[in-house]
Amino acid sequence: MSDNNFEKLLEESVKLHGHLCPGQVLGVRLAMLGLNLLNITDPKGKDRKKFMVLVEIDRCATDALQSVTGCSLGKRSLRWIDNGIMAATFVNLEDMTGYRILAKEEARDLSKKYCPEIQDKYKRQLEAYKVMSDDELFQVKRVKVSIPECDMPGRPLKRVQCSQCGEWVQDCREVVKDDKIFCRPCAYGRYYEEL
Ligand SMILES: [Zn+2]
Ligand SMILES: [Zn+2]
Repeated sequence: MSDNNFEKLLEESVKLHGHLCPGQVLGVRLAMLGLNLLNITDPKGKDRKKFMVLVEIDRCATDALQSVTGCSLGKRSLRWIDNGIMAATFVNLEDMTGYRILAKEEARDLSKKYCPEIQDKYKRQLEAYKVMSDDELFQVKRVKVSIPECDMPGRPLKRVQCSQCGEWVQDCREVVKDDKIFCRPCAYGRYYEEL
């Protein structure tokens, strides 16, 4: 993909995310690399059902991944694995193999080499991440991924009712205890209390 393309993708990503930040630059670069590795040329068109992205962090770069790939939570083509690690795996849905791309911690310091004249750390990283090589920014591993049937894109496989609160639970998230079906909140506790 060309520089021209990068600038365009970054612009779109900033629009979705709301501001320009190092995470947008890093996320756009990561997404472009992931799509390249999977040979995806039209992620939002003819190739959109061929792949999935599993992202391991919910930070700025996550929005860039969504913007560039067109994958989203609502389409289930973007899944959030809550690891707190700046990494994402691009999966070919035909054979469930793919590439896990990790943003290298060293890239933060290496930004000094590229833009030493910029004092502000974030501005320096932002500019440096545009010009650093993929090798300097990322570590790539070839991986095989297993995703439960219930987590795949497509129609919900299952819908059941909680025996305690009566709410409906989709996608195999129910809990069975003593032969009874419960939703997770009834089984494990809620994140809210009623006022
Ligand atoms: Zn941001
Ligand atoms: Zn319940």
